[in-house]
Amino acid sequence: MNILVINCGSSSLKYQLINSDTEQWIAKGLCERIGIDGSQIVYQKAGGDKEVTVSPMPDHTEAIRLVLEALTNDKTGAIKSLSEIDAVGHRVVHGGEKFSSSTVITPEVIEAIKECNDLAPLHNPANLIGIDACAKLMPGVPMVAVFDTAFHQTMPAEAYMYGLPYSYYEKYKIRRYGFHGTSHSFVSKKMAEDMGKKPEDLKLIICHLGNGASVSAVKNGKCVDTSMGLTPLEGLIMGTRSGDIDPAIMEFIAHKENKSIDEVMTLLNKKSGVYGLSGDLSSDFRDLEDAYNEGNEKAIIAVKTFSYRVAKYVGAYTAAMNGVDGIAFTAGVGENCGLVRKLVCEYLGYLGVKLDEAANSKRGEDTVISTPDSKVCVMFIPTNEELAIARETLALTK
Ligand code: AMP
Repeated sequence: MNILVINCGSSSLKYQLINSDTEQWIAKGLCERIGIDGSQIVYQKAGGDKEVTVSPMPDHTEAIRLVLEALTNDKTGAIKSLSEIDAVGHRVVHGGEKFSSSTVITPEVIEAIKECNDLAPLHNPANLIGIDACAKLMPGVPMVAVFDTAFHQTMPAEAYMYGLPYSYYEKYKIRRYGFHGTSHSFVSKKMAEDMGKKPEDLKLIICHLGNGASVSAVKNGKCVDTSMGLTPLEGLIMGTRSGDIDPAIMEFIAHKENKSIDEVMTLLNKKSGVYGLSGDLSSDFRDLEDAYNEGNEKAIIAVKTFSYRVAKYVGAYTAAMNGVDGIAFTAGVGENCGLVRKLVCEYLGYLGVKLDEAANSKRGEDTVISTPDSKVCVMFIPTNEELAIARETLALTK
């Protein structure tokens, strides 16, 4: 089966056409600046070069139309006609408490996703536009919604409740939900497989460290805690997001800098994290690592503070699970930045973690970076959210 995976952001759209038999991508790319001047589509067929075409995209329907056109065009298309697309898998950011697993999209499911819009006002509406556009352009092709929040729905109340009046949970569903669930689920299964064990027999901590970053505690194959909350702002220090801070800082900054709540939110989401900590040097760990090695003080503070926060969560989740068998690093930073992995592992000696420095300097596929006598297995494992979405879509539509 050929499965088209769609990940709609507010002004962008990532896509991958995946052959579910080989689990390889056939074509993939990205539409950028949807609804903004200068929109362009990037398209790449397996074995071919990236093509960039500037083309007006007033909305997501036009973006998806261009994707389908690129996939089927005579010259560089990966398939002959749309009939070769058997199903579509959509990443949907917020499923609230309504969705604890992926689901085939029906009119009722669309209504239920809309009811979660309040919880993810920037993301869910864009996801719904993508679903609507595909339904119009490929009528009759089955579609599946795969939620970022679903994997975390197994968290117990003591992990997901905030210390706020209970009525806010009842009235507005204010609680911790967690994100990156597709990645945490994929990597935790992969780690169990790599360790030659069943997920049911393991206590794993997954550190998804990308531009957005979160940690999860996965006990017996089920998520029992994760660091993101009602929104993706909670938890780790990220590329540009602050992560956990004293909530009173918001009022303090608002008064000192004469800022509105919206402006403070923008500051915490877009100007903070390692970007803000490094004195606006960069949110990208490639730049930060270079600056760290050159002795740039703010870059050193940024990288160390980021790593310390990860180590603190590892400690907390070891306590939550009463032990840990494996720790996995994944996503852009987790897969590529040996420096961050080393700094995190330096805090974990009390768990019996021993880092194999030579293995930690490697890149590529799943790699064990702990020594054979380490009490906890530590690995880096490339995540593949698109493949995970394709697998879920296949399972629900075949
Ligand atoms: P993601 O959100 O998973 O795509 O991760 C993106 C982030 O990964 C970038 O902003 C970088 O901070 C980081 N990253 C990607 N490649 C490397 C690399 N080779 N070394 C260090 N960090 C990297």
